[in-house]
Amino acid sequence: MKFDIEKIRADFPVLTRKVHGKDLVFLDSAASSQKPKQVVEAISNYYLYEHANIHRGVHLLSQEATSKYEDARKKVASFINAKNDHECIITKGTTDGINLVASSLGEHCVNEGDEVIISHMEHHSNLVPWQMLCERKKAKLKVIPITDDGELDLEEYEKLLSEKTKIVSVVHVSNTLGTINPVEEMIEKAHDVGAYFVVDGAQAVPHIPVDVQQLNCDFYAFSLHKMYGPTGIGILYGKESIMNAMPPYQGGGDMINKVTLEKTTYNDLPHKFEAGTPNIAGGIGMGATIDYINEIDWKAAHEFEAEVMDYAHKKLSEIEDLRFIGTAEKKTGAISFLVGQIHPYDMGVLLDQLGIAVRTGHHCTQPILERYNIPGTVRASFGIYSTKQEVDQLVQGVERAKRMLG
Ligand code: PMP
Repeated sequence: MKFDIEKIRADFPVLTRKVHGKDLVFLDSAASSQKPKQVVEAISNYYLYEHANIHRGVHLLSQEATSKYEDARKKVASFINAKNDHECIITKGTTDGINLVASSLGEHCVNEGDEVIISHMEHHSNLVPWQMLCERKKAKLKVIPITDDGELDLEEYEKLLSEKTKIVSVVHVSNTLGTINPVEEMIEKAHDVGAYFVVDGAQAVPHIPVDVQQLNCDFYAFSLHKMYGPTGIGILYGKESIMNAMPPYQGGGDMINKVTLEKTTYNDLPHKFEAGTPNIAGGIGMGATIDYINEIDWKAAHEFEAEVMDYAHKKLSEIEDLRFIGTAEKKTGAISFLVGQIHPYDMGVLLDQLGIAVRTGHHCTQPILERYNIPGTVRASFGIYSTKQEVDQLVQGVERAKRMLG
């Protein structure tokens, strides 16, 4: 089946906008993707005609909203091939999911002298929570180094693993370098020493197929806003047996079974980790997002996206003085680069004047900048609506900026 890019683009009205009088070229999907109108309509219908709080209502509106919210959980569970729906905790996003694991699993299994392993290419949201845990528990945070190409040094990873390792938490796809990490084999190695493995999947789920059972990860966190869904909602997948043994994260309504003034017993999964009135509209938007993904040919969309990304690599590499940051063999979603001595911020401002939205700076991965000794990068990132014409516009924009700033 041919991927109909014009039909896809028509689903995203924002792409028809003018920016500074120019056609918008949106190359910032790694920060947050645009939303198709089907998702926005599902959310607005819910607020206009269907709103009620969920889970305990006996009235029809509450029951309808509950079933839409819980259907969304089922859809997303099947999308990532979770064994059970209740293994998918609905969170505020990747950051929230990782904090939940660091706090609750950390409480459960990390003690003084133990070790937690992350990598040098982590987003701050998969770094700071582990630093906080290690400080709290007097444990050690170990870091897998990265090569000049922007790949994980797997030999060093194996050397870091020991019986002291309790948790390994690594990004599946880097939001700055674009590298796809071989998490499946890394998970096996972590399990060999009895450690749990957490995957930060924020930048992977929009771009590559993810099957949590095949990966055999213990946890997998991602955000809907990076995959054409609403902001403020995400999923933390976790294996049932592990989550059953973990203490609750936050206390409040919905996460309880019975409360007396002396003692509280907790609800079953997934509710044990979902205290308080949730983001119901976001959950319903999540369901509509998965419906949208299932309706388009997701595999063909990824193939189309990969072609655009290859084209971008080729065209950008023809620009004199341009160097890529992150040249791993397996990449997806994002390309980081620098041109001569031009500061990425200046390049970003000039491109914006031409209607081209890229991101510049550290992309919440400051240790990567330190690793390559650079002030930041210019990052072009792609979505299912990105085209080769947009890449051509980017290349022309970079050339123009080079002439003006170089
Ligand atoms: N990890 C990665 C790899 C990301 O790209 C992002 C978002 N840019 C996050 C974590 C954090 O996601 P959120 O801000 O949605 O919680």
